[in-house]
Amino acid sequence: MKIAVLPGDGIGTEIVAEAVKVLNALDLKFEMETAPVGGAAYEAAGHPLPESTLKLAREADAILFGAVGDWKYDKLDRPLRPEQAILGLRKALGLFANFRPAICYEQLTHASSLKPELVAGLDILIIRELTGDIYFGQPRGRRMAADGHFPGAEEAFDTMRYSRPEIERIARVAFEAARKRNKRVTSVDKANVLETFQLWKDVVTEVHKDYSDVQLDHMYVDNAAMQLVKAPKAFDVIVTGNMFGDILSDEASMLTGSIGMLPSASLNDKKQGLYEPSHGSAPDIAGKGVANPLATILSAAMMLRFSLGQAEAADRIEAAVKKVLAQGLRTPDIYSEGTTKVGTVQMGDAVVNALR
Ligand code: NAD
Repeated sequence: MKIAVLPGDGIGTEIVAEAVKVLNALDLKFEMETAPVGGAAYEAAGHPLPESTLKLAREADAILFGAVGDWKYDKLDRPLRPEQAILGLRKALGLFANFRPAICYEQLTHASSLKPELVAGLDILIIRELTGDIYFGQPRGRRMAADGHFPGAEEAFDTMRYSRPEIERIARVAFEAARKRNKRVTSVDKANVLETFQLWKDVVTEVHKDYSDVQLDHMYVDNAAMQLVKAPKAFDVIVTGNMFGDILSDEASMLTGSIGMLPSASLNDKKQGLYEPSHGSAPDIAGKGVANPLATILSAAMMLRFSLGQAEAADRIEAAVKKVLAQGLRTPDIYSEGTTKVGTVQMGDAVVNALR
C-alpha cells in the first residue's frame, strides 16, 4: 500500500502529521513517501506541482493531501499559484468524483451554528463533480469587450460546460452511493437558467432509469442552499456540479460544527484517490498549533476504506474519533463550555490513544 503524503502549506503540515501518526498506530504496513506541493513546492522547485510530486502521486495507491495556499502568493501568475496544484492533480489523475460526507457527531450538536434539533443525527453525503464545469471550461481569460453593456471596457470570462459522459459517470457514482445508504438522491442544478444544467438534469434523469430502487429529486441550487440550513436532514445524497458543490459543501460544513470536521475523498475510475480535509490552509491560524486535525484523520479513514481495502481499520479510526469527542476533548473551533480545549498535537495523540 503506497501512500503519497503531500502536506502542502499553512496548517497542511500540522494536520497531515497527525493523520500520519494515526496511520502509523494501526497494525498495517504502509509505504509512505512525502513530497512538496503548493506554495511549499513553489518555494522549493519553482512550481506548485513539480513533475517529481506528480510522478509520486501517479504511482501511489492513494494520496493524503493537506491543503495549499497562502495570501502571499496572490500576486503570482495564475499557473504558479499554490491552488493550481490541487486542480492539476485532479485533472492529471482524472479524480472526477468528490465525496464529502457531512456528519454531525452527537457530541458536537451544540458546536453547529444551527439549532441542535436541526443537526442532531445529521448524516448526508455531497457528491461533487470535480473535473468539469466553469473551473476547467475553456475558453477563459481577459480581453477588451467587443459588445455587451460596456463595449471597449476590460472584461473577464469563464466557460461553464459539461458533456453527456461526464454527467453520466457522476450520476452513476451518486446512485451507487445512495444504494448503500438511504436510497435517495437530490440532483442540484440551475436548469431554469443555464443550458449546461438543463443537460445535467436531462442526463441524470436518463441514468436514473437504471436505478429505479433509488428515489430521485431535482432541486435548483438557490433552493438547495436554503434547504440545507432549513431542514438538512431531509437530504441523503446530493449530487451536483463542480462550482455548486464547492459552495454547498462549505455551507454543509457548518452543520457539522466546524469545517475542521469535514473529510473528503476524490476518486477516479480506478478507485485511486486523493484524500484531504474540505478546508484550506487556514493561514490565519497556521503555526499556532490550534488547527483541528480531525477532518484530515477522518480523510485517512476514507482512504483506508475506498482505496486501500481496509474497511476495518477505517471503522477503528472513526470509532476513535467519536471516543475522543466523548471524552470532551475539543480544538478551539469546536470548543464549547464544559469541554477541554486541546491543540492539534494533543488531539492527534488522543486519537492514537483511543485506537489502543
Ligand atoms: P480556509 O478553509 O483555509 O479557512 C477558512 C476559515 O476556517 C479560517 O478562519 C480558518 O482558520 C478556519 N479553518 C479552516 N480549517 C480549519 C481547521 N482544521 N481547524 C480550525 N479552523 C479551521 O479558507 P480560506 O481562508 O478561504 O483560504 C485560505 C487559503 O486556502 C487560500 O489560499 C485558499 O485558496 C486555500 N484553499 C485551499 C484548499 C485546498 O488546498 N484544497 C481549499 C480551500 C482553500
